[in-house]
Amino acid sequence: LLCVSEDFDFFYFVQQWPGSYCDSKQSCCYPTTGKPVADFGIHGLWPNYKDGSYPSNCDPNNPFDQSQISDLSSGLQKNWPTLACPSGSGLKFWEHEWEKHGTCSESVLDQHAYFQTTLNLKRKLNLLQVLKDAGIQPNGQVYSIENIKEAIQNGIGYTPWIECNVDSSGNSQLYQIYVCVDTSGSNLIECPVFPNGKCASQIEFPSF
Ligand code: 5GP
Ligand code: 5GP
Ligand code: 5GP
Repeated sequence: LLCVSEDFDFFYFVQQWPGSYCDSKQSCCYPTTGKPVADFGIHGLWPNYKDGSYPSNCDPNNPFDQSQISDLSSGLQKNWPTLACPSGSGLKFWEHEWEKHGTCSESVLDQHAYFQTTLNLKRKLNLLQVLKDAGIQPNGQVYSIENIKEAIQNGIGYTPWIECNVDSSGNSQLYQIYVCVDTSGSNLIECPVFPNGKCASQIEFPSF
């Protein structure tokens, strides 16, 4: 019997709200392909250990290779847009995510599967719709973090983690949403451990 053991316990699937990346002190640049749609974008699919630590940059011999994901490029541009400056096509962001995180799950997902699986998760999980259905809109209003988490829990069946950042006036706002995924990359699970970090109890959901 041959069996492959994974060298991690679960994934964090992390999505970023572009409005919160852009209105912070660092500011943002739209990708060369144009302003992204007003939706959560993928930040990454991150292998993690259940003690809260995580592996990174696991295989320098498996560098990012654009040619392996050419069939995914329109999906990546739409769902995994880069907002860092200076403007880029996204290739640098995807390269960084593959090399830092993706190489640590290469025993289960090769490069194509890693990006395909991450896009599939994004398509399955419409967080913006779930929030809108609960009356939580990206309109600059303030919402309680409790209500935001409850809306997502009710919509997807699992407890998310919210990461906040601050806008240029110092207000705490909804920046990233974490959900946990099993080691196959296909099924949501309850998080074995949550990240750290503080939000105010009332946080802004800025427009984009
Ligand atoms: P920050 O310091 O901005 O929270 O995180 C910087 C980067 O470290 C993230 O974008 C991600 O690449 C990585 N990172 C931060 N927290 C975690 C975590 O809990 N798990 C994993 N796998 N990566 C993380
Ligand atoms: P992590 O925080 O995942 O280790 O690293 C994110 C890296 O990707 C940083 O070097 C950051 O500059 C770059 N990057 C490019 N585009 C984006 C983006 O849209 N959001 C975030 N958070 N990082 C981006
Ligand atoms: P409890 O788990 O008792 O609701 O919250 C314990 C503490 O963690 C509270 O200070 C609460 O604001 C914070 N907290 C709960 N959920 C989250 C979350 O998703 N993100 C962040 N940043 N803090 C949270």
